[in-house]
Amino acid sequence: MIDVQDLSFSYQGSAGKALDGLRLKVEKGQFYGIAGPAGAGKSTFAMCLNGAVPRLIEGDFSGQIYIAGKNIMETPVDQLCSVTGSVFQDVESQLVSSVVEDEIVFGMENLSFSKEEMDVRIAESLAAVGISNLRQANIWSLSGGQKQRVAIASALALRPQLLIMDEPTSELDPQASLELFHVLTSLNRKHGMTIVVIEQKLDLLFRFCDRLAIMDKGSVVLEGGSRDVLEKQ
Ligand code: ADP
Ligand code: ADP
Repeated sequence: MIDVQDLSFSYQGSAGKALDGLRLKVEKGQFYGIAGPAGAGKSTFAMCLNGAVPRLIEGDFSGQIYIAGKNIMETPVDQLCSVTGSVFQDVESQLVSSVVEDEIVFGMENLSFSKEEMDVRIAESLAAVGISNLRQANIWSLSGGQKQRVAIASALALRPQLLIMDEPTSELDPQASLELFHVLTSLNRKHGMTIVVIEQKLDLLFRFCDRLAIMDKGSVVLEGGSRDVLEKQ
């Protein structure tokens, strides 16, 4: 599903490399976790996978990223979005609407779906994250965990094969974090969606992920089955 070869990136004007010769493979259907210290390059890597680096963020980029067999540097942005959904840490800055269903429609706006098609996709994506009852709710009245689910539902409406999440539980309490990982597990199991999650809470990675990569200084320093990786940590 993901094949990354020799990926390096330095932000414009910064001396060091945020990513330095990173290699990683993720198979279709895996629930894949990424951990590592602050500054390891995890967020930069996530932004490479969704195409934001180097399209929107200036710097010195080299390497290859294949997603679902396609070199993403040669794939138009609108096609990338239907393959890869992404949800980032600061979920509030990603939400643009005040009503849940409008938020989900917003993500589909440029894709010229019919009204009926949008309706089906709104219902389907809200159900997938367990918030069908919140369709008409005001986003700003929701809890952190519910906002995360709205952001995930917006990504799901495009029916991506791959979902990338950068520290989705950083603003959530332990109970909401656990519930979110249950939601991700059900997307992974029921819909065969490949999931890549950057997460600091090692207990969640250990419990839910099939495989883990530990990053440090811009590359992967340890990779394997979750149990093996956490024992070697
Ligand atoms: P995380 O560790 O979760 O990636 P950071 O605290 O490193 O979060 O980064 C938060 C934000 O600050 C991100 O948008 C990141 O791009 C930006 N950022 C991080 N380091 C720098 C830096 N050295 N110069 C400018 N922006 C930075
Ligand atoms: P992590 O997510 O693992 O904390 P990041 O990908 O945020 O790591 O950062 C990797 C490196 O890139 C760090 O040294 C960080 O300071 C730097 N960095 C991140 N964002 C920026 C930015 N916008 N401008 C310059 N340097 C950045």
